[in-house]
Amino acid sequence: QNTINKIAAGEVIERPASVVKELLENAIDAKSTAVTVEIKEGGTSFIRVTDNGCGIPKEEVPLAFLRHSTSKIKSVEDLFTISSLGFRGEALASIAAVSQVELITKTSIGLTGTRFQIEGGEERSLEEIGAPEGTTFIARNLFYNTPARKKFLKTPSTEGAHVAELVEKLALSHPEVSIRFIQNNQNKLHTSGNHNLKDIVYTVFGREIASNLLEVTVNKPQVSIHGYIGKPVIARGNRNYENYFINGRYIKSSIISRAIEEAYRPFMMQHKYPFTMLHFTIESEMLDVNVHPTKMELRFRDGEMVYHMVYQAVSSALAHKEL
Ligand code: ADP
Ligand code: MG
Repeated sequence: QNTINKIAAGEVIERPASVVKELLENAIDAKSTAVTVEIKEGGTSFIRVTDNGCGIPKEEVPLAFLRHSTSKIKSVEDLFTISSLGFRGEALASIAAVSQVELITKTSIGLTGTRFQIEGGEERSLEEIGAPEGTTFIARNLFYNTPARKKFLKTPSTEGAHVAELVEKLALSHPEVSIRFIQNNQNKLHTSGNHNLKDIVYTVFGREIASNLLEVTVNKPQVSIHGYIGKPVIARGNRNYENYFINGRYIKSSIISRAIEEAYRPFMMQHKYPFTMLHFTIESEMLDVNVHPTKMELRFRDGEMVYHMVYQAVSSALAHKEL
């Protein structure tokens, strides 16, 4: 049983950033308005995610760590019709299989909170404890029981950089949640949670980018787009600044990337890439989703239509840039 968990965990949990991704997505799914992510040594020795969300009732705590236990169960087809990020019910089981986990949680109706410890998939304790509403999840010493996997971890600073990038992407995709990131006791990021995309661009990317933005708004029956694109003067040498989110998920689509880059082409030097920060809301009938435990591939029923819509939206924002 434990061996199976350890092997299966490899599909989901590769490094500290994968743990943080799952925990932060769970916190967002729990309707939190504020979440704090704290890591030490790049997350290899310590990861703590604290949220003010709905909490887990005591009797459900051990169950949440069983594989394929999800309170969000649904079919793969409606993955994009529902609002939650989690869907497989494997994350907690996978994390607990390869680290030392401590969970403290309290629901709004629970009289006391619950503290649960589980290490290498073995339950250590379950007790009542005073706690604020919400959930604190600590994962210590990732891969302590799988030395072969631990060897593949990079240096703490590289692992920490992966975590930072992941936290940024999730903060950008959820401007309605205030996200704080603390690395080695230093504050690295703190978003306001006020829904305002421009504020969050300022917080994450700084003033130069935030003061060179063009607004994009498209409202069509099946697709809407809102957000900002950067003026060509803030072009970058790589694609890391091309951000877009589809129904709240950070996901890549070659059609969307191509449409954005083609629209910029008349304004751009070669090997330069734009800054974009676009949120797409797309009807699920328009999507064709292929799901694998660690990656998602997105296709459109009518790719040409999506291409033209994005191309048009970006082109016309760029054409009006002097207004
Ligand atoms: P999934 O997110 O795919 O449902 P997980 O293994 O990530 O599966 O989590 C299992 C279950 O534990 C979730 O469905 C949810 O009910 C509960 N859970 C996990 N994290 C939290 C949290 N931060 N707040 C409230 N409930 C949580
Ligand atoms: Mg989850």
